[in-house]
Amino acid sequence: MIKKDSVVSLSYILKNENGEELDRFESATPLAYMHGHGQIVPGLENVLEGLAIGDKKEVIVTPQEGYGEVQPQLKMKVSRDKFPADRKIEPGMQFSSKMEDGREIPFTVQAIEGDDVLLDGNHPLAGETLHFSVEVVEVRPATAEELQHGHVHGAGGHHH
Ligand code: ZN
Repeated sequence: MIKKDSVVSLSYILKNENGEELDRFESATPLAYMHGHGQIVPGLENVLEGLAIGDKKEVIVTPQEGYGEVQPQLKMKVSRDKFPADRKIEPGMQFSSKMEDGREIPFTVQAIEGDDVLLDGNHPLAGETLHFSVEVVEVRPATAEELQHGHVHGAGGHHH
């Protein structure tokens, strides 16, 4: 049964409100995470509590319980000369930037308009209502080493 510190392997299909597929993990190559550590969106993690191997669930996650609402202040226009001159700037590129509160967040280049670069620091799935069709593939207790590291080792997790 899934509880705090369980290592959980999931297969799932993730669709948006329009039924378009956003992401998919097959049962042969599941997503592994440590339960109760905020490693997956809260709206999904809360629903999985108490489920067992083989359980299937349809879960609808609001933006508040998912990747958050789109924050307009994270969309910004930066002068091209703030970037290294020898570096080609193209839409889709990512840059890490330190925010006032010390967090590092990745910004994606949305477009280049003349001498300006338009950046967006919102998660690509911010503002989306998420429709998960999920199945629990495996549940096991975390090892002492995994608990110490705070992440899953082995299949679907970290390899050191
Ligand atoms: Zn580790």
